[in-house]
Amino acid sequence: MKELKIDVTLSTEKKQKPSFDNLEFGKSFTDHMFVWNYTEGKGWHDARIIPYQPITLDPAATVFHYGQTVFEGLKAYLTKDEQILLFRPDENMKRFNRSNDRLCMPELDEEGALSALKQLIQIDREWIPSGEGTSLYIRPFMIATEAFLGVHPANSYQFMIILSPVGAYYKEGINPVKIAVESEYVRAVAGGTGNAKTAGNYAASLKASEIASENGYSQVLWLDGRENQYIEEVGSMNVFFKINGEVITPELNGSILEGITRKSIIELLNYMNIPVVERRISIHEIEQAYRDGVLEEAFGTGTAAVISPIGEFLWKNEKMAVNNGEIGPLSQKLYDTLTGIQNGTKEDPFGWSVQI
Ligand SMILES: *Cc1c(COP(=O)(O)O)cnc(C)c1O
Repeated sequence: MKELKIDVTLSTEKKQKPSFDNLEFGKSFTDHMFVWNYTEGKGWHDARIIPYQPITLDPAATVFHYGQTVFEGLKAYLTKDEQILLFRPDENMKRFNRSNDRLCMPELDEEGALSALKQLIQIDREWIPSGEGTSLYIRPFMIATEAFLGVHPANSYQFMIILSPVGAYYKEGINPVKIAVESEYVRAVAGGTGNAKTAGNYAASLKASEIASENGYSQVLWLDGRENQYIEEVGSMNVFFKINGEVITPELNGSILEGITRKSIIELLNYMNIPVVERRISIHEIEQAYRDGVLEEAFGTGTAAVISPIGEFLWKNEKMAVNNGEIGPLSQKLYDTLTGIQNGTKEDPFGWSVQI
């Protein structure tokens, strides 16, 4: 892989590191950040690693007004013998460019961005926690910086990478969450931006999550925006169901975000010879499976939690328990296998792990 030429300015004062035993997700950041500018006609320029610091933008910058911005999320793991592993980072870069395309943002040089990411992690490697279940969360993102209030794709951008040490998602074993099926608000519609990792989708999702949370539910199960019956995602994770021995996940339809964990779980299930299908699945089918006693397991998938088992669905005032509110054997097995591959304690027959 070609190495991107980066101008490096190291920080003169190292920050005080937080206690790695008790990290809150996304709260502390490492000593350095990567910045890369894009100007129409000139392309990408001024790749640099600088001390972590605030950025200065014109108040008229497009990102503030019209939300032209894209992000990614992945993790680096420190193995027992002090190697640094990334999980399928090329997939994140590909998805970044699919999101960019949807938002009319410039294509990123994927190899260059990956090279920058690796160099930044090397510089801040002391920030990768080593405890069980911990990792360094990586947040690449791009913003439109042109100072202009007309609605059009901006002519200048900044691509940045910041890093944040994160603790174990499950500190006291995996506890299944309670999920409220959302029948008023929608997260995204086919033809919209649901399949792009762009800020507006998350802003649009907050209201329903807030209401669910007030009612004692961790997150919402999103239904499609056209017929209000087909299942899309759970919170900001993809969703899987095990019904009568078969694993089902909603097929990609334009409004569902194409998760890398989702893709990996499907590949893993195929490898384990467990039947898995991608197809439309309605909330009515889930209700029927529950009544028939064949709704065996349900779980969300995403980089942050990897697998998040669901113990109950609330649907029209009816509480539908899944596996007595306990984690199911398949969910546990998938969690152990995938996290094992990611942190280097289990064999990786797929070549997913990339050593820095
Ligand atoms: C990021 C994200 C996911 C999960 O994607 P991963 O690549 O598995 O982390 C799922 N849904 C939404 C809406 C997301 O933003």
